[in-house]
Amino acid sequence: MKKYSFFLVVLFLCIAFFAQAQSYTRTVSVEFDAIPNSYTIDVAKLKYNKDFAYSLTIDDGYKDVWNVAYPLIQGNWVLENDIFQGYNYGSGMPFQKVGGYTFDDGCGHQVPFHLGLAINASQIAKNASRINWWHLQALYDAGWDILNHGHYHVEALPIDFEDEIKENAEQVDDHIGFFPRHFAIPANQPVYAPETTSQGMVATYGAVMGFQGVYNGGLWDVEGDIAAVNSGLQLLRTSVPVDSASMNLDALKAKINSIAAMAPNQTIWYNEYTHAVGAGNNQYPNVSNLGFQLFRDYLDFLQQDYSQQIWVAGLQEVEEYLFVRQNTTISNQSLNGNILTFDVTLSTSQPSQRHFDLSLLVNGIGANINNVTVQGTGFQSFNTATGLINVELVK
Ligand SMILES: [Zn+2]
Repeated sequence: MKKYSFFLVVLFLCIAFFAQAQSYTRTVSVEFDAIPNSYTIDVAKLKYNKDFAYSLTIDDGYKDVWNVAYPLIQGNWVLENDIFQGYNYGSGMPFQKVGGYTFDDGCGHQVPFHLGLAINASQIAKNASRINWWHLQALYDAGWDILNHGHYHVEALPIDFEDEIKENAEQVDDHIGFFPRHFAIPANQPVYAPETTSQGMVATYGAVMGFQGVYNGGLWDVEGDIAAVNSGLQLLRTSVPVDSASMNLDALKAKINSIAAMAPNQTIWYNEYTHAVGAGNNQYPNVSNLGFQLFRDYLDFLQQDYSQQIWVAGLQEVEEYLFVRQNTTISNQSLNGNILTFDVTLSTSQPSQRHFDLSLLVNGIGANINNVTVQGTGFQSFNTATGLINVELVK
């Protein structure tokens, strides 16, 4: 009986701890240049109030992620030799892109593109063509997403789901201290889809017909379907164009242009995956690979044409914004003279959640914004002209 009471006390303390830990809040104060007649507070559909989100995932942990993709985006030197296939980039290499690839955060800051990596723990440092744990840690620390892609990338039946899904996440956690709960199905094998939730995953991505959220060739209207983030989102992954006829920059551009044209009527989250970005010529001879020049030119296009409209972030980062947006309330609104204050509160979180960002739009009727202050720590930025306020919700 004593043991039983002790257990109940511990259980109660655990519940009390987690109940307290699960609320994330910030208090925002907006100073106007005059007393506004009224005001509006809206939550932006996407982070930074962007027109559309784009997630690019590189699968299977090949070394050109480290040798090519990351330095290219950061604006650092790219190695001349591609260890993955032994290619040399040829004349004009090594290539340096000063400044790297960024988009505008709506408040005058440049944010580096964040890509996602679909990782199999068994392949890490397996041979010279694969990244090692140190690389993965550095990419994670740079804000890139790490997606669970199965321990051994098993695609043929029978499949040990616990080993493929949970064990893979545990190994990543052991090495870099992050438990990946966003699962990218290996080889799009459909039998994984009903198994991921019971193995602790919060979202599943795969090219499997019948997924919830598989609409319009991978274009997800986050406005219409956002509630899906609360019930184990399953989302289509789309490969970069693979056949020789369509695999060119114009095809990639046309897809992005068509998505951009949907705004502001629809707010689209579009994602693509590839395997390799470091070949010496335009493409690898096999499917689903962007070559070096195509990858570089594609990034260049995204930055040059869409810096203001696009949000380039990994699948988990975007899903978590939508989750925060879906589960946040704005309360305690108070207008004292020309000062508006209100609380932004996220009531719950997902396991292993990394991002707690929310973008707000505040508008004063008959007054302009002079200044914004956000109480507490965490990321924040604002634009007095547009009323955009980016906050990171904290415990
Ligand atoms: Zn794969």
